[in-house]
Amino acid sequence: MATTIISAGLDRPKTNARTALDRYGTVARPELAYTAEVAEATAPVYEKVKHLIPEFEWPALAPTVHAINELKKERNAVILAHNYMTPEIYHGIADIVGDSLQLAKEATRADADVIVQCGVHFMAETSKILNPDKTVLIPDMNAGCSLAESITAADVRGLREKYPGVPIVTYVNTSADVKAECDICCTSSNAVQVVESLGAPRVLLIPDQFLAANVARQTDVEVLTWAGACEVHERFTAEELREYRDIEPGVKIIAHPECPPEVVEEADFAGSTAGMIDWVKVNRPEKVMLVTECSMADNIASETPGVDYVRPCNLCPHMKRITLSKVLDALVEMKDEVIVDPEISARARVAVERMINLKS
Ligand code: SF4
Repeated sequence: MATTIISAGLDRPKTNARTALDRYGTVARPELAYTAEVAEATAPVYEKVKHLIPEFEWPALAPTVHAINELKKERNAVILAHNYMTPEIYHGIADIVGDSLQLAKEATRADADVIVQCGVHFMAETSKILNPDKTVLIPDMNAGCSLAESITAADVRGLREKYPGVPIVTYVNTSADVKAECDICCTSSNAVQVVESLGAPRVLLIPDQFLAANVARQTDVEVLTWAGACEVHERFTAEELREYRDIEPGVKIIAHPECPPEVVEEADFAGSTAGMIDWVKVNRPEKVMLVTECSMADNIASETPGVDYVRPCNLCPHMKRITLSKVLDALVEMKDEVIVDPEISARARVAVERMINLKS
């Protein structure tokens, strides 16, 4: 089925940066020295990132990795990190890693008092929606997302008026305000299943026009969408992929469904970041190219020895706002706290939980 694309808007994050520090109290800022104790404690981490981080650089990173891991205990905090985080975050300090769906599910199981979300703002909001009684921190409140910023709650209300009775599925990459206006959430790993679960002949799948187009190719449901796009994935082209095939004979190409449909068509497999990781682990190609954000290949290389990664590099500037030193600041200063209006949160939770509770 073809997709119909509609138009655009903007919602901004909400914050209450000082409250958490008042509630949890101050802690001393750790000394950041590369001592023998730090070297020993961080040696297993370095083993996982040594193919990416030269030995002479490790003494500059290790003290912060160690300090964060100690502070997590003191603050009773858990760190959720998206697959696009840098390797020192992904391997060094994260308790849970994964794609948006995995992180959303894990957020519901977190028994720590504090969640530090190493990812972008909508992910931290999703964790807060699912854990309204916990403190959720994001190390950089300006870590946004081109998809989340492409649509507002008012835009969704406009769609309801324009398409009465058509169910609205929102990609998880949206603000809480937008989720609160929608019937159900989806991620790139379950979008087809979510769309078909509604039993409707026509569905609005917002705001990613490319995800919607890729879903439409796999279902008989008519998919209407919005003019949003991921600024990282929309830049890949089918021609670029064909050039890589010429330069790297035998390379397997796997793409994220936020890429344009012609890119997905050119790939050997398409799936969410978690789906891509599973595909590489199961198929063990000699050479593979992940058509997604750069850090993915870095992060999974140590888990897939023998696989050669061809690295087309499109960085997500929002994800890269999250750094080790900002995570340390977040835990020392208990900032920036993510606040979601309780009424919005309760409505958004219905949409997120509907997705989580879908039988796979
Ligand atoms: S990679 Fe794309 S979808 Fe993910 S946070 Fe960055 S801009 Fe948003």
